[in-house]
Amino acid sequence: MIIEPKTRGFICTTAHPVGCQAQVKQQIDYVKAQKPLSGAKNVLVIGASTGYGLASLITAHFGMKANTLAVFFEKAATDKRTASAGWYNIAAVEKASHQDALVMSINGDAFSHEIKQQTIDAAKKHFGPIDLVIYSLASPRRIDPNTGETYNSVLKTCGQPFHNKSIDPLSGKMMDVTIPPATADEIKGTVKVMGGEDWAMWIDALEKANVLAKGVKTVAYSYIGPELTFPIYREGTIGQAKEDLEKTAAKLSQQLSSLQGHAYVSVNKAVVTQSSAAIPIVPLYISILFKVMKEQKRHEDCIQQIYRLFNECLYRTDAKIPIDEKGRIRIDDWEMEPSVQAAVAKLWPQITEENVMKLTDLAGYRRAFFNLFGFETEGVDYEKDVDPAIEVSSIE
Ligand code: NAD
Repeated sequence: MIIEPKTRGFICTTAHPVGCQAQVKQQIDYVKAQKPLSGAKNVLVIGASTGYGLASLITAHFGMKANTLAVFFEKAATDKRTASAGWYNIAAVEKASHQDALVMSINGDAFSHEIKQQTIDAAKKHFGPIDLVIYSLASPRRIDPNTGETYNSVLKTCGQPFHNKSIDPLSGKMMDVTIPPATADEIKGTVKVMGGEDWAMWIDALEKANVLAKGVKTVAYSYIGPELTFPIYREGTIGQAKEDLEKTAAKLSQQLSSLQGHAYVSVNKAVVTQSSAAIPIVPLYISILFKVMKEQKRHEDCIQQIYRLFNECLYRTDAKIPIDEKGRIRIDDWEMEPSVQAAVAKLWPQITEENVMKLTDLAGYRRAFFNLFGFETEGVDYEKDVDPAIEVSSIE
């Protein structure tokens, strides 16, 4: 069939297998062109099929030649629809995988006890002790596996409503938005979904099953961003969840001390992913940020960020992981540089629907968005018939 992008709101409901494969290949090629990494032999990535998790999987497997166990929640193709982009990404990683190390996939709800157990069983059977656990889940909901209760994550403020301008990046239509304050239940729900509870449950389960290596590292990803987005991000419901994640890192570090292990939060930069596209105001901020950082020749996507995280922080040769005053790794350092933020802050009030294409990199944002689903990728013939039914060798 011929597969075209079909968008609904901030998501694309179709994905292109050949385009996703080409996107994955670009990331693999980037990693292979860098200095080889070493330090971890067995790596577990939770949330490995798109965005920062996919880049972590690729960096570990192709940059470090580590055995990688990928956990994700994606959909195979049916008669009526293409598979999800993450499904095609994992298929592409499996296809490109080299003989030096394993790549194994587990598709299912990472919040559940069953998927944790399945991961432990696979680790015991096929892998040596796990040296690195990356936690890169982004989800709108979570079923608490102990109570069966469903929690939803919301993107709202904590306290006062917040007014600002926003953009629908696909239509280019600008609007003033008001983000309402969350109720106490909504804040609690967001923390349940995106906070540290599930990360801690993973580490508990892995530790109890004796599958963690001496000196194990675990890293969860976070975001801070500029003051401009504080009311909707860092001081909003999602920010509360990230605070919880950061507190969890401290607790997990204590827990892992008997293994001489350590838990970190890595604060990463803003990039276009399926998750960040869903946050109001943020796409406009990213469009300006891309413009500024590209002009300063400091633009990075997930793969550049994660390679830098591994190379300059987690597995640097002097083993001294640089952290901020709160113990966090700051790979968002280039985004947060005063010259970058000053340039963004200067542009923000000037942006209108008329000048947005000129003053921001909305075109780059859109391209990056379609790239997530395998579209608008150079070298791919979108007129050509493709079979959407691609296999992923997920462990059942
Ligand atoms: P993403 O949407 O691209 O990836 C989410 C991943 O989670 C996918 O692999 C998906 O399959 C998996 N997933 C979701 N629900 C699952 C479930 N129930 N079971 C198993 N897997 C599940 O998201 P992303 O933007 O890469 O975000 C990953 C992390 O990075 C998040 O913690 C996010 O806050 C953080 N982060 C993102 C940005 C950004 O700009 N996108 C910036 C800094 C930090």
